[in-house]
Amino acid sequence: MTPRTPSAAEATAAEFAAKAAAARRAAETWRRTTVAQRVKTLRAVWKSLAARRAEVRAVVHEETGKPLVEIDLMELGAAGLLVDWMTAAAPRVLGDKAAGKPWSLFNKRAYERRVPRGVVGLITPWNMPFLIPFGDAFAAMLAGNAVLLKPSEWTTKTALWLEGAVAGTSLLPAGLLSVVTGGGAAGEAVIDATDMVVFTGSTKTGRAVAVRAAGQLKPAVLELGGKHPMIVLADAALDRAAAAAVWAACANAGQVCVGVERVFVEAEAYDRFVEKVRPRMAALRQKLDGRDCDLGRLVFPPLLDRIQEQLEDARKKGARVIGGEVLDRDNLLMSPALVLDARMDMRVMTEECFGPVLPVMKISRAEEAVALANAGSEGLAASVWTTDLAKGERLAAALEVGLVGVNEPSSHYAFGALPFGGMKQSGMGRRHGEEGLLAFTQAQSVVVHEWPDATPDMWWFPYDERKAGFLRKLMGLP
Ligand code: NDP
Repeated sequence: MTPRTPSAAEATAAEFAAKAAAARRAAETWRRTTVAQRVKTLRAVWKSLAARRAEVRAVVHEETGKPLVEIDLMELGAAGLLVDWMTAAAPRVLGDKAAGKPWSLFNKRAYERRVPRGVVGLITPWNMPFLIPFGDAFAAMLAGNAVLLKPSEWTTKTALWLEGAVAGTSLLPAGLLSVVTGGGAAGEAVIDATDMVVFTGSTKTGRAVAVRAAGQLKPAVLELGGKHPMIVLADAALDRAAAAAVWAACANAGQVCVGVERVFVEAEAYDRFVEKVRPRMAALRQKLDGRDCDLGRLVFPPLLDRIQEQLEDARKKGARVIGGEVLDRDNLLMSPALVLDARMDMRVMTEECFGPVLPVMKISRAEEAVALANAGSEGLAASVWTTDLAKGERLAAALEVGLVGVNEPSSHYAFGALPFGGMKQSGMGRRHGEEGLLAFTQAQSVVVHEWPDATPDMWWFPYDERKAGFLRKLMGLP
């Protein structure tokens, strides 16, 4: 039976203090390494982890019930793509950068150094228990930091495996990646014990994390919930759109923050789109052992009832719900649900569902869907589907989201170069991209006076009109 209680106990105060102190000590050593050394060492760490793919599969499957193929592609494959981009980009992004200077400061040299923040706190969810902690920890360590990771209580074993596997390479200072277990209280303690926090999870908890970090003037990067609207125009390539809708709504059993949560289809194409989606939903193979199947169970026990309530609300308000039955309550298994004739007054169209549910609503024109999507409080991901790429990109630009696709549902995470995160209530700051790497550092601006050695600068005391006249000319003042 799938566990009904979290997999690990709260770390005791003494255990927490020991982990936090180990991370702090490791940070002191690690910050003195060069970017080139970190790139080389961390690539070797990744190589060693990737070689243990079977163990990652086993522990992630045990905690989440995901299909094994999905663990390979989404948890490990995507991690490898991130490693490739980050390690290639790090020397350029994190290296010293010469600064331009005004002509009048010709005898000085200026540059920007990126200084690690120290210990970075990661508070991570249960839906991607390897990829999210690994990717953020890798970026933070590449930027010269230690990491104190508090995984979701539901996926603690995966995080402890990661901690052990990283330590087992003996390539990094002891404690550079330290894991503390527990629930909300451990998360709060992580914010208090670190210099920056990266949180992934619900908007409600994210707000509490931001408030606590702000009270201590610590930066927080937040990646929160979304309500991906997929907007299908009448001229879209409907086979690809239908396949994408089913995959992006049901991959990881729908527990993906950027996954498709609702589809708006222009009236002219609605029936044809539904015809193409129905058999694809019905063909999904669902199993608990992760082999030869497309989707598994839910991870977080309260989700099952929440999704059932959303489906019941849709039924009562006149939607046709196909599938969505609870197949095995003990094992959190429900069949994927197609919700036809959905309307905006149904909870399933406005509340985050986070399950294998695909509501489809008929609209008159794509612009109507853009307005409906923008009226919501989330702004994480969206997509537009049309063969008119120029129109697709115009509509995409009008969507108030951090991640948008044209004929593309949700591959952004795999592009290490692209900043990843949401607008409005879906988050603050970005992971990935130059912005994401730089966020793990602070700028130190350096000015070096080069010559002549002993002469005071002309704008220092004593002020006099003769010198000032010359300087005014130099500064371009009339
Ligand atoms: P939460 O946002 O509550 O949890 C995310 C992480 O924050 C977990 O590690 C959690 O610990 C920790 N946490 C909880 N309370 C605090 C706190 N006060 N201070 C610091 N850290 C804290 O998500 P849930 O797991 O409860 O899931 C609830 C819903 O959130 C889901 O149903 C889904 O809708 C959404 N969600 C969104 C995700 C996304 O990727 N955007 C990912 C996961 C969930 P612990 O779980 O151990 O208590």
